[in-house]
Amino acid sequence: MDYYSSQISKLIEELSRLPGIGAKTAQRLAFHIINLPEDSVVRLANAITDARKNVRYCKECLTLTDTELCPICSSSRRNKKQIMVVENPRDLAAYEKTGKYDGVYHVLHGAISPMLGIGPQDIKIKELMVRLQQDVEEVIIATNSSLEGEATAMYLSKLIKPAGIKVSRIASGIPVGGDLEYIDEVTLLRALEGRVEL
Ligand code: ZN
Repeated sequence: MDYYSSQISKLIEELSRLPGIGAKTAQRLAFHIINLPEDSVVRLANAITDARKNVRYCKECLTLTDTELCPICSSSRRNKKQIMVVENPRDLAAYEKTGKYDGVYHVLHGAISPMLGIGPQDIKIKELMVRLQQDVEEVIIATNSSLEGEATAMYLSKLIKPAGIKVSRIASGIPVGGDLEYIDEVTLLRALEGRVEL
């Protein structure tokens, strides 16, 4: 038996598909939305559809942006000869929050994972290699210290070093398996400053 009208049930069902949202939270959110003034709901719905429609990968670093080039890549103040490689846009945001890194980034959108069947061709490595044909002095590999992050770092180092570009890895001290986005800024800065050449 359905306790709710079919439209409420549908809203709950859609919300519960979101990551980290269980059945109970989905119900709570659904009732919250239903009780909002109508213009707030329209704003929320528009924000979702607009973001989905307009957000794309930056042409250079492949982070998410709503312009052709993200603000970092289009800034003249950033050092384009230093590229920090991260797994996802959230890691990029974590480093940006420190405010101390003035190079640019490259977002892989994942990490190599033989166990999950994710190979080098499944993440944005090819695009990185194309960028490295420009004048680049250093690639800082800032993938997570998980098994996958380490495998990716090793793979990249072997691939890039023959091109004569300096390759470094952010220092350990980041908890193994630690997601970069949950690590505080001081630890991130220390990891960056203590990076070692591979
Ligand atoms: Zn960019």
